[in-house]
Amino acid sequence: MTDSLASHLACIECGATLPLGYRLECEKCRGLLELVYDLAPLGRQGPALFTGAGLWRYAPVLPIADPAHRVTLGEGMTPLLDCPRLAARLGVRRLLLKFEGANPTGTVKDRSSATAVAAALQFGFAATSVVSSGNAGSSIAAYSARAGLRSLIFAYERASAPKLLHMAATTTDLVLYRGVYDDLIGLWDRLVGERLFFDCGASRNAYKHEGKKTLAYEIAEQTGWRPPDVVVAPVAVGETFTATVRGFREMHAAGLIPRVPRMVAAQAARANAVVRAFRDGTVITPLKIGYTVAEGLAAGDPGRKGAWTLALLRAGRGLAGDAEDDEILAAQTTLARTEGVWAGPTGVATLAVLTRLLAAKALDPAQTICVIVSETGLKTEAVTPSRAATAFDFDSLRRLVLERLGR
Ligand SMILES: [Zn+2]
Repeated sequence: MTDSLASHLACIECGATLPLGYRLECEKCRGLLELVYDLAPLGRQGPALFTGAGLWRYAPVLPIADPAHRVTLGEGMTPLLDCPRLAARLGVRRLLLKFEGANPTGTVKDRSSATAVAAALQFGFAATSVVSSGNAGSSIAAYSARAGLRSLIFAYERASAPKLLHMAATTTDLVLYRGVYDDLIGLWDRLVGERLFFDCGASRNAYKHEGKKTLAYEIAEQTGWRPPDVVVAPVAVGETFTATVRGFREMHAAGLIPRVPRMVAAQAARANAVVRAFRDGTVITPLKIGYTVAEGLAAGDPGRKGAWTLALLRAGRGLAGDAEDDEILAAQTTLARTEGVWAGPTGVATLAVLTRLLAAKALDPAQTICVIVSETGLKTEAVTPSRAATAFDFDSLRRLVLERLGR
């Protein structure tokens, strides 16, 4: 059984319902829309409803009706790694790491790109577009190529060189924009209404958003349907965060899991609009931001999805935290040395935030904590290590080996 159980769209603000279709906001109040499913079959059949491998294993809870539209590069079912050495170092009982760098383009974006490009096919579009700091751009470009669609990628001028290379290799059209994400996204969002391309942005499109919900389904399935107590998710505008919460809530409503984990929103301190509002108990005030090493989190105005993130945090006894760039870079090295996982700065921001929250005793270390690490480190730009090299004969080689191994 691979039919989609999607039944309609609902406004998260006023509750108005709309039939399935390519709609980006509520016709009554302009609120964001979310997809609603008939969860009764999931309640009756349980996990037996899910078949096959990868992201489309969860096709019943995704909004793509025709299997022919379900584009794939082999995304999903990324490793959920038990990290005992890192747990001991941080002083927590059990630490799980959901490593999204294992996806085809090295990031969590592949989940939303799969459903975005599938929806572009479903609604008959010939081109896609996105405004990106790098990861979303190469992911949307790759999935568009895979589906035979044009892609118009607007990329951050300070995106790392490996990210630019990747985007240039996969897209049909690459345009670099001046400034940060916030400087272009407002204009681009206005253009979306003209339907020249399918909206692959993070601001409004419920179909794109939906792919990331599979993060929650996988974490639940990989823990035997008893998910961790706490899940730490990254927040730029809040797409990964809100999608993950939606996934856990659906499973809870269908009786698949006993409870929804406590969610922690993680931001870079240099782009922390959601965290500030959470701490101060206020609405979100957009920030004018500069550069952060966590390029993928560089959004100062998270818009309506940021407000949704904040509402979910407050309703679900969640927690929010941020970390400075030097803490993020330290977490990157620590993770590589203690567990062998090489993740990018955007990806390890969650780990840096967890480290801070544990030091501040804001979380119970006796709980099982899962950290979503959103990207590979292979697209990180850094100073090239020294290339000073040695020429050996047998004796000098042997001497070096004995010395290095302390023999
Ligand atoms: Zn509404």
